Amino acid sequence: MKKRDKFLPFALPYITNSEIAGVVDTLKSNWLTTGPKVRKFEEKFSGYVNAPYAAALNSGTAGLHLALIALGVKKGDSVITTPYTFCATANVVLECKAKLILADVKEDDYNIDPYEIGKKINKKVKVVMPVHIGGLPADMDEIKAIARKNRSYIVEDAAHALSAEYKGKKVGSFGDISVFSFYATKNITTGEGGMITTRNKKLKDLIAVLGLHGIGKDAWKRYTAEGSWYYEVTHLGYKYNMTDMQAALGLAQLKIADKLLDLRVKIAGIYDREFKNLDGIGTLKPQNNKVNARHLYMIRINDKALKIGRNRFIDELKKANIGTSVHFIPVHLHPYYRKTFGFKPSDFPVATKLYGQSLSLPIYPKMSKSDIYYVVENVKAIARRFKR
Ligand SMILES: *Cc1c(COP(=O)(O)O)cnc(C)c1O
Repeated sequence: MKKRDKFLPFALPYITNSEIAGVVDTLKSNWLTTGPKVRKFEEKFSGYVNAPYAAALNSGTAGLHLALIALGVKKGDSVITTPYTFCATANVVLECKAKLILADVKEDDYNIDPYEIGKKINKKVKVVMPVHIGGLPADMDEIKAIARKNRSYIVEDAAHALSAEYKGKKVGSFGDISVFSFYATKNITTGEGGMITTRNKKLKDLIAVLGLHGIGKDAWKRYTAEGSWYYEVTHLGYKYNMTDMQAALGLAQLKIADKLLDLRVKIAGIYDREFKNLDGIGTLKPQNNKVNARHLYMIRINDKALKIGRNRFIDELKKANIGTSVHFIPVHLHPYYRKTFGFKPSDFPVATKLYGQSLSLPIYPKMSKSDIYYVVENVKAIARRFKR
């Protein structure tokens, strides 16, 4: 096959004239920071995911951090999450001075294993924090049953899971708080940004206050005609607020969220079909009652069937001008976590194994048909060339 001249990036945002017009409109409005566009984005977002309350923040990480603070997580408490995630999920637990407990994942879908949560949960566990990895919802019924029995809260790391569904309902209200990310590579983007959703108005109000220095509600209004110069700091807060420029992007992206999902699902469908009978390449099996938001498309290299492993496979794709990534380097393998907690690779054997075999292929709405089939043909060619 002919090598393409231009590098195919691993991920690209999908920005149209309406995103651009929204940001320009905000710039011309003279209101740049948190304001009417953020409020509108929150409203539309809560409608989209079908959760009564939403609060916008400047990142998903900020959302995870404030979710734990709002639920009262502090020194002496524990939080259970998965090793198979981006470091932010674990970092926020330590920022709260709580104990981090990792529960290994399931080999068939990379998601946290409810059985492992059950083994590790104890009275000190204030929060269980599943990650819907790659956009595939975790086993929420099982997780909820375990958490409820232990009187633990649930915070969903839904950074990958906008538009995902579990048993016919959109992700965004299964836990006490759900947290989305609008980082540049995520299913919709605001450049940087995040959103929490919840069914609990008190939690939403508290997170909104904590996200703006701990200043009372609607602090952003103090420079408007209806605002007042007077404000009170009621909590020790953070500077985690979203700007109207980001919200303008988000509003335009949210309008096309379903279309973006469709495009991702179509690409995943082509990959699934083409790799189904390909020796040495493993893909996710479909699961009943779940809509995968297809944020990532991970494949597993079976080095019993192929003469090369994951790293070489990535190199071969790179030679063909195809960008890939690895999701994720598990938390327990990072030097900071190894040194601080004495983690060994064998502590979470499934996560360690999956990490060693997995890579993520490009999957994003801007891919053309020929981009998609270029990836397909190269994956097939490499798998055949290095067949044992
Ligand atoms: C992207 C991501 C986050 C953090 O979101 P930011 O908006 O980048 O702060 C958290 N968890 C997971 C699993 C992510 O992929």
